[in-house]
Amino acid sequence: VGVQGLAHDRVTIALWKKIQSLVIAVEGELVTKDGQLMGRLDLLLADVDDSGNLRGWLVADLKTGKPPQGKLKPEVNRQLRMYRDILLSNNEKAPPVQAQGWYTDTSSKWDAVGENVLEAAYEAWSATQPSDTPLEPTPGKSSCGGFCDWKAWCPHWWNWRHQNKSLHKGDFADGVVILHQYDEGRSTATVEECVPKDALGGVEPTGQMRTISFDGRGKEVLEALLDDGHQGPIFLGSAMMNREVWRVGPWCDVLPWNPIPDSGMS
Ligand code: SF4
Repeated sequence: VGVQGLAHDRVTIALWKKIQSLVIAVEGELVTKDGQLMGRLDLLLADVDDSGNLRGWLVADLKTGKPPQGKLKPEVNRQLRMYRDILLSNNEKAPPVQAQGWYTDTSSKWDAVGENVLEAAYEAWSATQPSDTPLEPTPGKSSCGGFCDWKAWCPHWWNWRHQNKSLHKGDFADGVVILHQYDEGRSTATVEECVPKDALGGVEPTGQMRTISFDGRGKEVLEALLDDGHQGPIFLGSAMMNREVWRVGPWCDVLPWNPIPDSGMS
């Protein structure tokens, strides 16, 4: 519950209910009114004083990586301020909003501080030009090992994971699978794990079958993909794979696996 030194077995039902009463949104999608900028927040909480009066909103972003040394890294600080500023721009009557990074490793919380970032974000958005040729790949722990929006189109993270034997290991892990069967009533799928056949992201099925449970937005996008008639391999981003039945929830990406070669689209 984000309290340092509080063991799980000391979290009482009353405490848990109290925390639940403060939750405004979980895994919510944030989109600016014009639809140009977006983000996904983990948790939006009401910040109340001892008398239960609302002081403000608290955006909590759960981080499983290395906790900061002294202050948040600039890019994390910027990401959290973006959530804060989208919330403020979409809600004219919003109370004060504080965004924090919550690091599970040390149960520590770190404030995002600084100016509004929306103007700079719009500038960056306007300066972005579509191109058929990908940027130079930078495979490694601090790039492909973390969150990257481009994994469904990039073969490098997949080869890197396969080579260092970390493919489909742990939670918030990525993978490429072939769907064999989907039970809409139960929201479960039978899939086959795949590994890279070549450097270009060609797919080699392994024969290793898995059951996946889908929920929330993860379920919606899978069903939309199937309704569109998608038949090829599927990229799963940030799935819970550290368990017998994998979970693909609202925070996950479910996209056609469509790697683009380094030489470009054509
Ligand atoms: S997945 Fe591809 S685009 Fe993303 S960080 Fe790795 S090499 Fe770069």
